[in-house]
Amino acid sequence: MVKNCYSFDIGEFECLAVSDGIFNYQNLAELLFPDVSKDELDRICKEHDIRLEKCNNWLSDYICLVINTGDELILIDTGAGKDDISSPETGLLLDNLETEGFLPSDFDRVIISHVHPDHIGGVTSKDNRLVFTDSEFILWKDEWDFWTSGRVEDELKGYFKHELIECARNNLPPIKHRVNLIDQEMEIVPGLKIFEAKGHTPGQIAISVSTNDDELIYFSDSFIHPIHIERPDWYTAIDLNPEQAVKTRCNILNQASTGETLLFGFHFPFPGLGYLKKKENRFFWRSI
Ligand SMILES: [Zn+2]
Repeated sequence: MVKNCYSFDIGEFECLAVSDGIFNYQNLAELLFPDVSKDELDRICKEHDIRLEKCNNWLSDYICLVINTGDELILIDTGAGKDDISSPETGLLLDNLETEGFLPSDFDRVIISHVHPDHIGGVTSKDNRLVFTDSEFILWKDEWDFWTSGRVEDELKGYFKHELIECARNNLPPIKHRVNLIDQEMEIVPGLKIFEAKGHTPGQIAISVSTNDDELIYFSDSFIHPIHIERPDWYTAIDLNPEQAVKTRCNILNQASTGETLLFGFHFPFPGLGYLKKKENRFFWRSI
């Protein structure tokens, strides 16, 4: 049976990784490793049991995270939702939450890591109604400003450009009066800190959770594929500022370098959890 939820604890916080489904991207090499030579990519892909000559598809999990701190129920990212842009295999977050006994109105806060359709598409329903009716939303201010300004038309590159802009236009205005825009690293509740992880987008954030000597980092799309852990210098075609994205990846690897910090990847194989393993100055992904 396919597992859609995975529960675990970080110190005194109860956490739940919840699947929003799986999306089939048709162009793994061009999307995730646009500037890597064919030989080099073939070599590393073989190590990961990916046969590029046979299949250039990338089946990506979408995984959101629920954290119950005891005082607050927090959701990180909302999945793709059910609009015209999304696929029938994604947008399953609400069904999977319901199976675990959660209603959208139960959440005190919804943290949006960045404004891409797979992360904010679930903010509204197909008929444009706000899904999380009782939540405060948290976003980085630069991210909000970028997607609500004219800059987005000029600065966004080709990949999914139209879909990205459309999704932001559908999902940001409905939360305008309940969004808390953060512009500096801060602990929003004791043990849960938000920090800047820009590059993939102008104001992507990562979330670090630290309680009772347990630590977790939700790195969002700072790393999209486990190969990026090994090669943080390989940027994706959807990293808006590749140089900055590389800096962010190195910063997160640095923070988790002891190998004791649990890492959570939205696009990584379910449940998206793993640790860093270091070998000869390179990091590798060790899934739990
Ligand atoms: Zn994403």
